Amino acid sequence: MEAITYSLKNGLPNSKSYYRDVRTFTDVVLSHADNSIKPTVEEFVEYLRTYNLEEIREIEEYILELLSFGVLWQSYAHKALSVRYAPFITMSRMAEWRKKHQRVKPAIDVARGILTTLLLLPKNSSNHHDQIPTLEQIDHVCKWFEATGEFREQALRFIRWRAFWGTKTNEELTKMFYIINEFTHWFEEQSKQALGKYTLNVEDFIKHSHKRYRWREDRIQCTRTQLEYHLNMVGAELMNRAFKTEFNKTEVKVVLVPGCMRSGSKEECKAIKVKEGLMCDGCLPHCRVNQLREMGKKRNFDVYIIPHASDLSLWSPHADRPVRGVIASACVTTLVEGGWELKRYDVPAQCVLLDYSGCKKHWHYNGVPTALNIRELKRIVIS
Ligand code: SF4
Repeated sequence: MEAITYSLKNGLPNSKSYYRDVRTFTDVVLSHADNSIKPTVEEFVEYLRTYNLEEIREIEEYILELLSFGVLWQSYAHKALSVRYAPFITMSRMAEWRKKHQRVKPAIDVARGILTTLLLLPKNSSNHHDQIPTLEQIDHVCKWFEATGEFREQALRFIRWRAFWGTKTNEELTKMFYIINEFTHWFEEQSKQALGKYTLNVEDFIKHSHKRYRWREDRIQCTRTQLEYHLNMVGAELMNRAFKTEFNKTEVKVVLVPGCMRSGSKEECKAIKVKEGLMCDGCLPHCRVNQLREMGKKRNFDVYIIPHASDLSLWSPHADRPVRGVIASACVTTLVEGGWELKRYDVPAQCVLLDYSGCKKHWHYNGVPTALNIRELKRIVIS
């Protein structure tokens, strides 16, 4: 099948080469960060430590946060800053409700689709993306990020960075934002060379399909730029490195897969409903979820099918049960946001990207069963 937007297989029988390439490129990113954004990251960590604002996390997480800021600022600031007034708070609450209340989700999605196009994505937007941001502009763009429902987790992290930037002089801020901007441009160019072969169809897809998404809730999710795909690919690798130690301490493991991995349609699937989602009943031997379930019996993990944008707080540690290590699988456009959310709920997590996207709801008229790299999954489970 030709990739809809991305394919980690890139014409090969499996995605082994992708995992080799993304690891190599992530090493390059970290090494380039050393003489670029890392001093800013270290200053931020010192600020958090001094004011006891949080338990200090792994350095990769902070590097990812700052790189995400650079990329998202470049991609969306011009749109967000063109929106002067919008019901930001109501829209971000609606984004939360759709996760917590699956029954009213379809109705909320219709309303959010219309509001997003009418209020958050103006046709004419100003050209702000290469300018040094002011703190007021950052506040405004963070509210916009939350209202979209797509960048809520990133926005929550940028708020802390914003507080840190608030302690700096104008001269210091100009220097810091100049460095972030430079690093972002470097990442854009280099990621295209290292990972561009896996995301060849992204720009064409946006060009030819943007009208289809005009009034839809998933408009922003499905029209992410090639640069954002690369950010999320490197982001997934950075997260796996940062969260690995905590994940490896867990004795119980679960694998979360999206419904689009099933071979049968939603109606045909005999999976059993449980509190956390659905558990495969093994009705189709060739179904990839069933094959994972069989593998889980041997490797000691359970498999859950969970809907997109579901309530991940269900996986939080509880006093009355062992901590569960979660391996989440999703497509490139959503995995990193989910990873941050699991982190916020203190869930030790790892992730495996879907080799390509194909669900009927967001990407494909008829739906194509999706897949993940089994070797990569085994590597995470065994380690
Ligand atoms: S094998 Fe499992 S996941 Fe696949 S269709 Fe049957 S019950 Fe659903």
